[in-house]
Amino acid sequence: MLGLMQDRPLALPHVFHRAEEYFGHKTIVTAGAADETSMTVSEWAQRVRRLATVFDTLDISADGRVGTFAWNTGRHLELYLAAPCTGRVLHTLNIRLFPEQLVYVANHAEDEVVFVDRSLLPLFWPLVDKLETVRHVVVLDDGADVEIPSDPRVHDYEELLAAATPFEGRFEIADENTAAAMCYTSGTTGNPKGVVYSHRSTLLHSLITLTADGAALSERDVLLPVVPMFHANAWGLPYGALLAGSSLVFPGPNMTPQAIAGLLERHRVTVTGGVPTIWMGMQPLLAQHDLSALRMILCGGSAVPKALSEAYREAIGVPMLHAWGMTETSPIATMSTARSRHATLSEDERADIRARQGQAVPLVEVRLADPATGEIQPWDDVSTGEIQAAGPWIAADYYRGEGGGAQFTEDGWLRTGDVATADRYGFLRLVDRTKDLIKSGGEWIGSVELENEIMAHPKVAEAAVIAVPHPKWVERPLACVVVKPGETLTAEEVIAHLEPRVAKWWLPDAVEFIDEVPKTSVGKFSKKTLREKFGGYQVATPTAASTTDDGRT
Ligand code: AMP
Repeated sequence: MLGLMQDRPLALPHVFHRAEEYFGHKTIVTAGAADETSMTVSEWAQRVRRLATVFDTLDISADGRVGTFAWNTGRHLELYLAAPCTGRVLHTLNIRLFPEQLVYVANHAEDEVVFVDRSLLPLFWPLVDKLETVRHVVVLDDGADVEIPSDPRVHDYEELLAAATPFEGRFEIADENTAAAMCYTSGTTGNPKGVVYSHRSTLLHSLITLTADGAALSERDVLLPVVPMFHANAWGLPYGALLAGSSLVFPGPNMTPQAIAGLLERHRVTVTGGVPTIWMGMQPLLAQHDLSALRMILCGGSAVPKALSEAYREAIGVPMLHAWGMTETSPIATMSTARSRHATLSEDERADIRARQGQAVPLVEVRLADPATGEIQPWDDVSTGEIQAAGPWIAADYYRGEGGGAQFTEDGWLRTGDVATADRYGFLRLVDRTKDLIKSGGEWIGSVELENEIMAHPKVAEAAVIAVPHPKWVERPLACVVVKPGETLTAEEVIAHLEPRVAKWWLPDAVEFIDEVPKTSVGKFSKKTLREKFGGYQVATPTAASTTDDGRT
């Protein structure tokens, strides 16, 4: 027997029309190089309607890929809706990719048009002749003092909008499984891989940002997404905000901690989200700003150090809300929202919980599996396993089937490459990534855990731990440490700091002091670069206590 409910597509036109009909009075602010612009959601919706017909004027195919090369702005949000609501596929190009990778992804996705912020033209324009399918480049003039090329492919966004006839009526996407957007993951090896979000996955994922145990976005919120709109749709927050009716503030090109702090204060922002690096940079400024409106700082993309979250809690009363996910998971998969059983814990114990990646959000399922055998591991907070994920906004494959293979299990779960334990309530604690594990004497050492402990040292700015070859133990950990400016630190001090915190055989055999941990295009630690640098490293004086004969202490 079938249910008798209406079979309506779960698609982005709903987000657009809901925002237009109910929340036209709300505001969308964008910070420019010199000033701020503000528009109402009604004005924004009119611009989306005009943009919808611009795609036809430019002769973009019915499901053509619409590239963006842009900062977080109100204009970018126009593209976020106009492209998918007309059946086109939004392809947010990561402005931090290396040129060869940008060329690769634009060609692989077959972008027909790219919308580029004027301030980013110096990065983009030199590549344009290598972009085989790009017929138009539309400049979003953010007032930057950058020359606009005189070329028949180049158009001015505002001129196109002014000349366009607004689309009338309601946008329709008949099949909710139609592609809405795509995003390439910054693969640590090989070519980037294309993740293709559907209307259905995007709409369902947007809803999760509205749940009480999630970001709880509401009409009363003012959202500032610091996480780039080219990184997994800014964690779905802009779509969530439109669905909920929150006001939006976009930082534009100025991503300095000073600028972000100023925007948070001036616009009484209530919810913001970004990677830990951003919040580390802003931490010294907290005392100078009135951030009393802020109720939530969503943080993820890499592990959120307990010390960072605690510093915010102590300074402004708002710790980080830790979330975990990846491009392939849209990205929100787990969140570390406090549960009723945490209420009786001490502040320090609660801080430990907040440092965990948390529990799967509704509709997402996770399990821990032995990376080698696939055997499912118990949630006993001791056994570790690779997180596998399943759900309606988890990737089933990569674009054109390229780059997946071993990343999906036979029963269709995504192998995330992240290694975790889970307590009996399924609260995950990431201990490593499969590609980063250090196997010493047949036993695993969690490099991420070591890094977190080292980074808790007050004189340490950053630390990355990699495996280096060892004649006896096959691999041993090497700690690459960046000392805070003006501080001095010795290898002995680092080891002494770790001694009470980790098993003896986990202690790094050597500590190298470096100026900076190399980063990937999305700001993550590039262990690959470090491994290349220190791959031939010979441990000169292995610490006597580093490893006992059976590999443990
Ligand atoms: P990306 O696809 O670039 O978003 O990267 C996803 C990866 O970032 C995950 O597989 C994790 O390795 C890492 N990551 C994301 N969120 C967290 C988190 N909260 N804690 C630790 N690692 C994280």
